Amino acid sequence: VAKGKTVPVGLDLSSQDPLHQIDFSSFKKEGEGFVLKAGGKESFPFDIKRDLYHGLSKDAMRYFYLNRAGVALDEGLAGVWAHGPWYASDEAVRPFSGADYFGKVWPKRDYVINAGKGWFDAGDYGKYVVNGGISVWTLLNLYERNPTQFPDGSLKIPEAGNKVPDVLDEARWEMDFMLGMQVPEGQEQAGMAHHKLHEPVWSPMPFKPSERVNDRFVYTPSTAATLNLAASAAQMARLVKPFDADYAARCLQAAERSWKAAKENPEFKYGTIPGTGGGNYDDFYLEDEYYWAASELFIPTGKDEYKGEITKALEIDRIVNASSGANGPMYWGNVATLAHLSLMLNPDMLESDAAGKAALAKVKALVMKGADRYLGQIKDEGYLMPMFEYEWGSSSAVLNKLILMAYAFDETGDGKYLDALTASIDYLLGRNALCKSFVAGYGENPVHYPHHRFWADDEEGGFPPPPAGALSGGPNEKANDEATAFMVLKMARSKRYADDIRSYSTNEVCINWNAPLAWVSSYLDEKNNPGSGIKPAGKGSSPFGGAGPIAGLAIAIVVIAGAVAGFVSRERKRKK
Ligand code: CA
Ligand code: CA
Repeated sequence: VAKGKTVPVGLDLSSQDPLHQIDFSSFKKEGEGFVLKAGGKESFPFDIKRDLYHGLSKDAMRYFYLNRAGVALDEGLAGVWAHGPWYASDEAVRPFSGADYFGKVWPKRDYVINAGKGWFDAGDYGKYVVNGGISVWTLLNLYERNPTQFPDGSLKIPEAGNKVPDVLDEARWEMDFMLGMQVPEGQEQAGMAHHKLHEPVWSPMPFKPSERVNDRFVYTPSTAATLNLAASAAQMARLVKPFDADYAARCLQAAERSWKAAKENPEFKYGTIPGTGGGNYDDFYLEDEYYWAASELFIPTGKDEYKGEITKALEIDRIVNASSGANGPMYWGNVATLAHLSLMLNPDMLESDAAGKAALAKVKALVMKGADRYLGQIKDEGYLMPMFEYEWGSSSAVLNKLILMAYAFDETGDGKYLDALTASIDYLLGRNALCKSFVAGYGENPVHYPHHRFWADDEEGGFPPPPAGALSGGPNEKANDEATAFMVLKMARSKRYADDIRSYSTNEVCINWNAPLAWVSSYLDEKNNPGSGIKPAGKGSSPFGGAGPIAGLAIAIVVIAGAVAGFVSRERKRKK
């Protein structure tokens, strides 16, 4: 259907691949089974379609239902991923006390916590307030930016049909867990949130909780967890209010209690928290968490106390630089950008006086600065996406950068941001140095053996394969597990990855990685798919004029030395 010439790019540093690019964006017809031929090699067949991201966005959201804790997953909804009510016992769980693994003695706490519900965090069955915060924020932000995404009845969840948008129902499952983690009134550190909940030693891999009763604990309260609860509960309060005023009031009350407790207890920052059966999510710098919580609390309350915190935080260098860091604008330990984006969606709140207007202008400028920096990074990467350093969970670093580009496109309507976003998601779906789609069930060569205790793909043992839409962490230049550690000396940094269940450092899944996949894929669905029923949002809402040409996969990368790299935007049955 078209002919052209490749453009030499030269050596791509991250992969050590000599590359050419093929730009076929002038070809604008929809269709299936296109093949690209160059230098005697042939690509996988691929599609050009408007609705490429529709199924992906729903599957990325479904990840959360399939990781719900404390409830039986119904076969009608969960299919082969159905199971019993794992860890329903979290509804009454004791705080850890006594001597820990390192000999530190933690004081006795004489109460029981209701930490039921929540999502299992990652490949393990632990639940962590800090990582829950950014994950809930990402889903709620998706909803707040465009409430027509994931309306009631759009997802396969038990709450479909309850007249509440399904994305709010899903986020509430985690919110309920986080609310339960708050220290009750009358107890020491009342109002603070316990940091995490998990079993005292790592459970085996793979492992189904029904096989064994584990003794799980909640671990010490922390200032970081408390601020995550304050921010998330305040954000939930303002969004859920039209649907459930009582729950909104409960969330706002918990958020203000948390804020007060975090101001009174600023020093509870931990490195190693007892219990070897879970991660730590340790964070020693909390100014960004205070700024985030203050912003989310300011929006529903309008209180001067919170506004003062916002303007004060915007004078701190580390906050100012947070949204344009080389490795990404946000992660669970760097949450300043979450505050920026929430404030951008609620501009009226700051526009009432000159100081507020100045703060809003600054926030917008910081977001645009980040988006422009990441746009620049794409030009330096042979595989056309914004990443040069490959850290743990590198897939999510790309996605969080794309969220900033989406805001930049919404703000300016400048197509360069949307083009960059589209090119970058192609990296995750297979146009990369490994010719691998990091999303299960999507692309011609998708991830199949993620580090997850249940999705181990062993039919005899009762372990299902990974569900479509689960995102792998991706290449990690400091790969350090038994399946990949040898790669650090032998392979280029963007190739340090193994589709191997043992590889927690390159192939784990996680709630805070799938949340931005849901965000970005639903954004692309909104922009490309007029038939989706989603109403466009933002200034740059109709780049393709409704019935005009479509975005598809426009630029291909050819590895001259090897096979033609993948073109992977097509859903297909998983290969064994
Ligand atoms: Ca619903
Ligand atoms: Ca922090």
